[in-house]
Amino acid sequence: MNKQVEKIQISGIRRFAEKVNKVEGAISLTIGQPDFSVPANICEAITKAIMENKTTYTSNAGIEELRTEISRHLGNFGIKYDKDEICITVGGSEGLYSVLFALMNSGEKILLPGPAYPAYENISIMIGAEVVTYPLKEDFTIDINVIKEKLDKENIKVLMLSFPSNPTGAILTKEQRDALIDIIKEKDIVVITDEMYSSIIFDEYYSVAQASEIKDKVIYVSGFSKIFSMTGLRIGYVACVNKYMKEIMKVHQYGVSCAPSIAQYGALEGLRNSSEDVERMRKSFERRKDYCMKRLKELQLEVAEPKGAFYIFPSIKKFNMPAEEFCEKLLNEGKVACVPGTAFGSLGEGYMRISYCYSEEVLKEAFDRIESFLNNNFIN
Ligand code: PLP
Repeated sequence: MNKQVEKIQISGIRRFAEKVNKVEGAISLTIGQPDFSVPANICEAITKAIMENKTTYTSNAGIEELRTEISRHLGNFGIKYDKDEICITVGGSEGLYSVLFALMNSGEKILLPGPAYPAYENISIMIGAEVVTYPLKEDFTIDINVIKEKLDKENIKVLMLSFPSNPTGAILTKEQRDALIDIIKEKDIVVITDEMYSSIIFDEYYSVAQASEIKDKVIYVSGFSKIFSMTGLRIGYVACVNKYMKEIMKVHQYGVSCAPSIAQYGALEGLRNSSEDVERMRKSFERRKDYCMKRLKELQLEVAEPKGAFYIFPSIKKFNMPAEEFCEKLLNEGKVACVPGTAFGSLGEGYMRISYCYSEEVLKEAFDRIESFLNNNFIN
């Protein structure tokens, strides 16, 4: 077996989601799959694509219409990439994989946020890169000085940014973005910005990808799994300048050839005609976030208010129990499944992730159960 692959484990999010199936009547708040159906016009576009036999390989980079539409879409947020600087991938996951594979040599260092989406660390380990982590502030925003210090001390090649964050929901402020841009200008690094949740933001949007003066140091990764609630249709994309793209394209080509053809037509239709559905879903996530905040505050749990995505990451430190053990107990006795913070790295210890992409009724029932569980176990 490959020694690097043996070093990693199947994602803790999945492992925990599977435990839920074994507990009768348990409610799962574990998975990042929105509970909305794929917008009807997107389904129709996919069906039409099948009926018109658009079922062959597409070009490796993906269909030109979709790349053109992504270029226009990003332009609306001040991010400028030409269609030829965009590659359609098999979800954001394959985008991340192809980018990291193309960039990193064995032993080179990547600087990751902690806690963070587990794929960053695990892909890095698989390809032999050395992982260095930068801790986040109490409210899960970045501490510019910490990042600077790590970049100064360690010989970092790649800096990973992830906003809105899974699992914390944190985003970048204008000041933080500008400070990051200054550091990126100064240092000899490449930045990957994973913006899978950029359509689900409850505040102003800022990204280092908006700064054209550092365009040759930034690789942008995103996709349509969350924005159009189409996680199973597997369409993501990478945008970057040619010096990176020409290498990323090789990994992409030999790994997957191209993204699923019919789903590319679905994403195209979504970008052209689904903005009302996207806004409806965003508003609904915001209402659910407000509800979760209210319930967590009533339970007197410390929690930073998420500014995007559909996750909330309360502290469970006051219960003096490892996160994994706490979540097991909550599942077995309280019949609610949340993901232990440690699934997002060791800096997630003391937290649990609640995914609030579930209906308001489900969330209410889950919080009622969490309340009884805490009352029964932790309040005399
Ligand atoms: N990046 C982040 C931060 C995510 O949370 C996810 C999925 O949950 C991905 C990337 C991967 O997205 P996809 O399902 O499109 O592969």
